Amino acid sequence: MHALMQDRQLLISTLIDHAALNHGEVEIVSRTCEGPTLRTNYQTLRQRSVKMAKALLRLGVRHGDRVGSLAWNTHRHMELYFAVPGMGAVLNTVNPRLYQEQIEYVINHAEAKVLFFDLTFADLIRALRPALTFTGTLVVMTDRAHKPAGLDDCLCYEDLIEAETDEFEWPLFEETQASSLCYTSGTTGNPKGVLYSHRSTLLHSFNTCSMDGLQLSCRDCVLLIVPLFHVNAWGLPYASAMCGAKVVLPGPWLDGPSLLPLLQQERCTFSIGVPTVWLGLLQFIEEHPQLLTGELALERVVIGGSAAPRALIERLHRLLGATSIQAWGMSETSPMGTIGNLLPKHLALSLDEQIDVRAKAGRPVYGVEVQVVDDLGRTLPRDGKSAGHLKVRGPWVASGYYKGDGGQVMDAGGWLQTGDVASIDEDGYLQITDRSKDVIKSGGEWISSIDLENAAIGHPAVQEAAVIGLPHSRWQERPLLVVVVKPGVDVQACDLLAFLSTQVAKWWLPDDVVFVDQLPHTATGKLQKARLREQFKDFVFTSERPQAAPQRSDVNATTNHG
Ligand code: AMP
Repeated sequence: MHALMQDRQLLISTLIDHAALNHGEVEIVSRTCEGPTLRTNYQTLRQRSVKMAKALLRLGVRHGDRVGSLAWNTHRHMELYFAVPGMGAVLNTVNPRLYQEQIEYVINHAEAKVLFFDLTFADLIRALRPALTFTGTLVVMTDRAHKPAGLDDCLCYEDLIEAETDEFEWPLFEETQASSLCYTSGTTGNPKGVLYSHRSTLLHSFNTCSMDGLQLSCRDCVLLIVPLFHVNAWGLPYASAMCGAKVVLPGPWLDGPSLLPLLQQERCTFSIGVPTVWLGLLQFIEEHPQLLTGELALERVVIGGSAAPRALIERLHRLLGATSIQAWGMSETSPMGTIGNLLPKHLALSLDEQIDVRAKAGRPVYGVEVQVVDDLGRTLPRDGKSAGHLKVRGPWVASGYYKGDGGQVMDAGGWLQTGDVASIDEDGYLQITDRSKDVIKSGGEWISSIDLENAAIGHPAVQEAAVIGLPHSRWQERPLLVVVVKPGVDVQACDLLAFLSTQVAKWWLPDDVVFVDQLPHTATGKLQKARLREQFKDFVFTSERPQAAPQRSDVNATTNHG
């Protein structure tokens, strides 16, 4: 029997219509590539999105066509978030931090009809053009006064807007139609396209606004640090429109000196970013404590994209007075998979004990199912210890990649292999141990590089730490700890190993410690383990060298399994 409920489709256009009507005056504050900070609101954002949708129609964009963007977090990019899917096309946000060949690959693969780019990427566009198969329209996201010389065949964003009126009815179509195309970071092989739908995006947004999700509401002011060019900025533009939250967009500037004034002046209550960005901001604040005048309004900080070290959660609480919510997810999961809120039984715990819970990657939110299996596919117990391959399924989880890349990705049960190694505890909290390819296989046992990194970062001298597994004649692989030390601090390898020995099992202790000036990061700010392994491929552990002589930078720690 069919129900008698209205068959209204979950379309992205309904989000911006709702925000304009019910939260029309709520501000969108944007730093711009031209320099000044611009203040607009949901009502104007809708008007301009509608005009852009009409301009795209005029340029020949039709339902299902791809429209590319190579842009930072600005009001114009946020307008495209509504204009493009709203008129039935698919927004392909290209990550400008990828290698140039990968950017070329993504643009060619997505076959966009129109490609928008920020002023800052004018040179990149010039460099890319010879290799692009793109024959559509290029639009530089600025006004005529700021249009760079030598881009005569490119249109201007503001000209397109000015030429249109805001009378327009968004088209109606099925909610299962594609809305956005975001590519994975492609640490191995070419990036693969994840194709979100209007339905998956709206379901994901409901979740973000729920109390046990990210608790986003119209009382929030969001400092949107996660880039609009990666995983739809974790769906925050859409969730913010759903609940009418104020949004602050930092433009191209994601460093401490740029972010702190935005937090202070806009009274941001909520922010979201990868650990590297938070580490940068906290370091800046620690170096300039005099700038932290008055109380911040910041209540919640969402950390995801990489494991959040316990020490980072503590520092965010101590310095910014903010509660950290760790989330786990990936491009393929839109990305919210698990979210680290507390259970009733945790409320009576001390702050320290609560931080222990918050240092885990969170529990599944309704809609996402997770499972951990062994090499033979058998489900492992939820005991917080048994680590295995993490699988996931749900209505905002990918069923395949764009153009069939990567072949069949779901198993018979509809599960997607995440490539992560994880355990799940009795309360359902996920603990990410590693990416499958990063876990260190030592003497038949697994050592978590993430746990070691999180422990190392707890040492007051350590700015950043990475652990990789390198070949070892006896144990197959052993951990190497690579450390960036805070400026002006002196620390020896033996100090770090002594510190780590109080945190992890003896046989987990890295065999050597190497100090470096900086660590390689991926386009989305994650440690780039593949490059690090390449960098240290000829490294021989001190214990493996013919005549081992102790040096400052590498100290042999005796390892003994069990
Ligand atoms: P991406 O698709 O680029 O967003 O990367 C997704 C990957 O980031 C996941 O598969 C995890 O390996 C990693 N990741 C995301 N969130 C977390 C987290 N909270 N803890 C550990 N790893 C994470």
